[in-house]
Amino acid sequence: MTRNFFVGGNWKMNGSKATIDTITDGLNATKVPEGVQVVCGAPDVYLTYAQSKITNASVQVAAQNCYKEAKGAFTGETSADFLKDLGVNWVILGHSERRHVFGESDELIGEKCKKALATGLNIIPCIGEQLEEREAGKTEEVVFNQMKFIKDNVDDWSKVVIAYEPVWAIGTGKVATPEQAQDIHEKLRAWLKAEVSQEVADSVRILYGGSVNGKNCKELAAKPDIDGFLVGGASLKPEFSDIIRARE
Ligand code: PEP
Repeated sequence: MTRNFFVGGNWKMNGSKATIDTITDGLNATKVPEGVQVVCGAPDVYLTYAQSKITNASVQVAAQNCYKEAKGAFTGETSADFLKDLGVNWVILGHSERRHVFGESDELIGEKCKKALATGLNIIPCIGEQLEEREAGKTEEVVFNQMKFIKDNVDDWSKVVIAYEPVWAIGTGKVATPEQAQDIHEKLRAWLKAEVSQEVADSVRILYGGSVNGKNCKELAAKPDIDGFLVGGASLKPEFSDIIRARE
């Protein structure tokens, strides 16, 4: 089973029209290898601007979050329906900053996954253990539990790309070793086989995220169960083009 390489960018709460011009100029000039999919998570207020600037057909725009309801008295929230209306087809859900800075629960993230899928969006749900959990030998327990809440809310796995992002590696410069990442990716695939099906385990892309850069991406991308990356800091820089070509 061939799983097409997938490179997600997460601009987080960064940017301006001027910096988006620079980033999208770089993306438009990047020769994306055949079959590689690139999806960049822009801040909500810049989604339409980013879309208007991207001319590279291999690059799409994602939102970084959305709410579980279609509309109503939820001041400040973005609904999946708004995203669909804007022609945004991807959303990142349950990023560690949503979980740990904004206190989003597994239940809420599951509900968001369900709503986004029902609205026709593709989702990038994020999972990952904190340092204390890894040190306590609880990595598998934590990520399998997070996966359970996602799984219970997914009916079409062809619209799901999982991002495994150990929290201790996000924005810290402390990347997981290729062996550490491969180990968890392989276990996640075995979990999908046991809990969902062999077909889903074989076909779902599992991305690694956490301090990926232009230098460390090739070694990580060479691992059999690492199907791409979710990239924060480096997605704002020219080296993102090198990450897109990590498998070349
Ligand atoms: C992220 O924001 O998902 C991320 C992985 O950040 P960074 O690449 O900066 O560690």
